[in-house]
Amino acid sequence: MASIFTRIVNGEIPSYKVAESELCYAFLDINPLAKGHTLVIPKKEVDYLFDVEDELYAELMLFAKRVGKAIEKVVPCERIGVTVIGLEVPHAHVHLIPINALNDMNFAKPKVQMSSDELKTLASAIAETFV
Ligand code: 5GP
Repeated sequence: MASIFTRIVNGEIPSYKVAESELCYAFLDINPLAKGHTLVIPKKEVDYLFDVEDELYAELMLFAKRVGKAIEKVVPCERIGVTVIGLEVPHAHVHLIPINALNDMNFAKPKVQMSSDELKTLASAIAETFV
């Protein structure tokens, strides 16, 4: 069965899209650790990041860098934290999280509540800044 992220890429499930390339897709995390928390994925469904073939892996990381640069222009923060977990969704993804302190990367802390309108507006602002 297709992963939830493949279904997002295929438009079967809606997402707050931030950026897209031929091979990669970026969208806001639905349950964000911070405003601007974004997931960057290869469109090709591979469970474990380190099983992604080298060329696509490099493309994914370069794409994530461009997305991170766009996020930091829109969301005030010290920098963008980057992490990979993958215990919940078996489709490789990189978390990009605006942070100001170490604890901002703590996935055990309460998530930020954002309305659909807020997520939509934020995704559009990042998308407009993405180059
Ligand atoms: P991980 O697999 O890295 O442990 O966590 C998966 C992440 O994907 C979580 O931060 C979760 O909030 C996010 N997530 C799970 N399902 C969806 C979804 O349907 N849409 C979006 N935008 N994010 C999701």
